[in-house]
Amino acid sequence: MTLLLPPNATIGLVGGGQLGRMSAMAAARLGYRCHILTRERDSPASQVAAAATISDYQEPEGLRRFAVAVDVISFEFENVSAEGLDLLASLKPVRPSPTILRISQDRVLEKTFLNQIGVPTAPWSQVEDCEALTTAAAKVGLPAVLKTTRLGYDGKGQITLRHRDEFGAAFAALSPKPLVLEGFIDFAQEISVVAARGEDGGYTAFDTVENRHCNHILDLTLAPARIPEPVDRQAQAIARKIADAMDLVGLLAVEMFVDRDGRVLVNEIAPRPHNSGHWTIDACPASQFEMHIRAIAGLPLPPAVRHSDAVMKNLVGPEETALWPAILAEPGLIPHLYGKVEARPGRKMGHITRLFPRGSLPGEFGVTAALGPAAPRATEP
Ligand code: AMP
Repeated sequence: MTLLLPPNATIGLVGGGQLGRMSAMAAARLGYRCHILTRERDSPASQVAAAATISDYQEPEGLRRFAVAVDVISFEFENVSAEGLDLLASLKPVRPSPTILRISQDRVLEKTFLNQIGVPTAPWSQVEDCEALTTAAAKVGLPAVLKTTRLGYDGKGQITLRHRDEFGAAFAALSPKPLVLEGFIDFAQEISVVAARGEDGGYTAFDTVENRHCNHILDLTLAPARIPEPVDRQAQAIARKIADAMDLVGLLAVEMFVDRDGRVLVNEIAPRPHNSGHWTIDACPASQFEMHIRAIAGLPLPPAVRHSDAVMKNLVGPEETALWPAILAEPGLIPHLYGKVEARPGRKMGHITRLFPRGSLPGEFGVTAALGPAAPRATEP
């Protein structure tokens, strides 16, 4: 079905977090209204949107009330039940399609899909019980990472295993089952690509970026990634292959590892705006959020060009939120705060971006200096 959303139409966004907030801000600039479906009364997204439905994501009555009030439905959060997705899709166009959301909700479906289309991942095995864990470890080797198949994010729902005597406790600690065991990738770098694809197959992708995590939470994104040309080509080709194979209409983020031999392996995919694309708000004429809105609204997709190089740093938890006054006083830091009232440990509260002329992203010391009061967190061991 072709859909070209006219100005003043209403976009329904499932999820009330910062990704929904920044999508709603981009939508407003294009003359659209956003209606947010969220469980929270005062969510980051609903603070900047025209309307909100407060409901559980699985509750049919809430989903129905939301769907009837909007013209198209998209997501900043993909963990809606299969029945919920079917209900939404029976009432309004859902973009990206429920099939894509189902694949990205489940690590087993996701890895199976990726491997079937010839996209490499870490070696992996599904784990139903403790015995299967021993078999899986024999296949993928140790160390390995045991993960939940569903509902994991920011390192929640995963445990690194180094010895067999850790198996029982780790298996018991993670739920829901089944789990997935992945070979541990001794990566040289973590990178990602954010791409947009329209209903007509039009495609554009932002430059490959480098991501640094701390305690499994993204700390820094460097745009562009400092990677050899062949690695960049692999990463971009993988993103394109996945978007085309899924017949994506919307946005796709692909998180990848670069191993010590320069091979690119996919860690996970997300069919929505992504934290590693926040730099595009300040460094690109059309950000990932604008691309998201354009793709789901049926608008033309402009090339995802970058006018500047950028360093993006997340502001996580109470310690980094406390830096806010100092950040505001630092010339050249571009501040973004998400409107969350409580700065719990590990919670993403905002981010900052520093721009550089194209081609002049600084080296390690320069990156630290560029962030002023918000120094990078130590990278994990
Ligand atoms: P995930 O929740 O799967 O995105 O994992 C969060 C972070 O944990 C990744 O960005 C990596 O830093 C690390 N990680 C996850 N899986 C692996 C793996 N198989 N090998 C090495 N590091 C991993």
